[in-house]
Amino acid sequence: MNRKLFSFPGGIHPPENKLQSLNLPIQSVPLPKRLILPLQQHIGAPAKAIVNVGDQVKKGQCLAQPQGFVSASIHAPTSGAIAEIADHEIPHPSGLASLCIVLQPDGEDSWCEAQPIADYSAAKPAELVDKIRQSGITGMGGAGFPTSVKLSPPADSKIESLIINAVECEPYITADDMLMRERAAGVIEGALILNHILQTRETLIAIEDNKPDAIAAMRRAVEALSESHNSQPHNIEIVVIPTRYPSGGEKQLIQNLTGKEVPSGKPPLHVGIVVQNTATTYAIHRAINHGEPLISRIVTLTGEALNKPGNYETLLGTPIEHLLELAGIDNQQLSRLIMGGPMMGFALDSTALPVVKTTNCLLAATNTEYPEQPPAMPCIRCGACAEACPASLLPQQLLWFSMGGELDKAEQYNVADCIECGACSYVCPSHIPLVQYYRATKGELAQRRADLIQSDHARDRFEFREERLAKEKAEKDAKRKARAEAAAKAQAAKKAAAALEAKEGGATKDSSDAKPPSDKEDVVAAALARVEAKKKAKADAAAKTQQQESS
Ligand code: SF4
Ligand code: SF4
Repeated sequence: MNRKLFSFPGGIHPPENKLQSLNLPIQSVPLPKRLILPLQQHIGAPAKAIVNVGDQVKKGQCLAQPQGFVSASIHAPTSGAIAEIADHEIPHPSGLASLCIVLQPDGEDSWCEAQPIADYSAAKPAELVDKIRQSGITGMGGAGFPTSVKLSPPADSKIESLIINAVECEPYITADDMLMRERAAGVIEGALILNHILQTRETLIAIEDNKPDAIAAMRRAVEALSESHNSQPHNIEIVVIPTRYPSGGEKQLIQNLTGKEVPSGKPPLHVGIVVQNTATTYAIHRAINHGEPLISRIVTLTGEALNKPGNYETLLGTPIEHLLELAGIDNQQLSRLIMGGPMMGFALDSTALPVVKTTNCLLAATNTEYPEQPPAMPCIRCGACAEACPASLLPQQLLWFSMGGELDKAEQYNVADCIECGACSYVCPSHIPLVQYYRATKGELAQRRADLIQSDHARDRFEFREERLAKEKAEKDAKRKARAEAAAKAQAAKKAAAALEAKEGGATKDSSDAKPPSDKEDVVAAALARVEAKKKAKADAAAKTQQQESS
């Protein structure tokens, strides 16, 4: 029985342009002269290098360790020598440079000792999650969120469904399609491992209906699984969904499959669902069952400026120019080079940039294929953007707020829920690059939040310092006061003793024989001693007089 499907709002049907990269099986890529490995290929803190320039490393060896919970390690994609640890331009919309480890391959491609987990079904979930973390696995279809974090839900949350996102709805990209056609069994193994970790009620593998070969391959793999695991029933279901962009958006896919809406600002966990990308699921299988960290990925090389488009198994860190040469780039024809697809990707201005964990596609487009966008015209308030928006946002209003720098208003209108799918820009008859405005606004909001946190920290530091200084001053004042009081007391005691001494008749020669009080002795005791001495002197004198008289 077919599963009941739901729907999500909006969506569009741009030309798919997928066939051109589906003619060849997955190709291998010869070793490049050097591999450039950014320490930040994921969301979160950058990894920390644990090798030095000149070190010899093996394939699969850890080169940089995660720093903190939300971070991911980096491994050597082949054996060789560490040639450099320095800033290099990285593939990012900002175009900024970032710290990279540069590895010079030695051509041996010799592995370090692999440490697979012999039987994942006997392993504790925490052990598997730790292995996934140690293997540097991050989301390979989107922003690169560390996978181990997604697999560590709070103890009180119940995960009902695991969804493997094999939708690949973006035009041109076929990397997941080819992965499923050729390595379906590995994807299914990854899904079983994920299910063992999360213990979900169901595992849904969602594929768009424009991938019949991948659907068939995955169904065969599930059937084979049923035959080989007769006594161990599984809960994997292949769910075919209608082709509509952006049905691969995480929240849109959840709504499509389950009818559940993930509230604004909340992760899928909030509705008891974890979503993982197909390539990530396959990488989990390689890490657990083969002990291989994430060191390569399949990249779709496509666009009319390439003579040999296809899908290429590419080592992370491979310079893009190396790949483009392999795919027969015609530089005369190349008009625009895009990383990702035409809807959500971003333009690159250098071919020296490296492939990273999230590089699913390189689109080398000609001018006819990807013409310059006509100049933007004023908004005619047609409302087409709102109709196309899969996140039920009001793109036209968001545009005004973004253009006017009204960040608070943009926030109120949930700009954070924009998945940057570009559907609004695609349908806008005025050719307004709406999504670019939203990206900029989201960036400004993120910066504002960061500044706020920083100023909060600065204020906390200031207040802490003021408090410490006030405490030190209060302690000093208290000590000074105590000393003054002690001195006053001593002075008063001295005066009292002097007065007593004067009352007793003043000092005599004999009294001077009494030992004077040292500074440390009590002055009152000393005075009393002197009085006693005087009394004794008087008594002695009287006795002497009496003695003389009687004799
Ligand atoms: S689609 Fe373009 S022109 Fe139409 S309302 Fe939206 S922004 Fe304005
Ligand atoms: S880019 Fe954002 S605003 Fe535009 S359609 Fe997509 S989700 Fe909606």
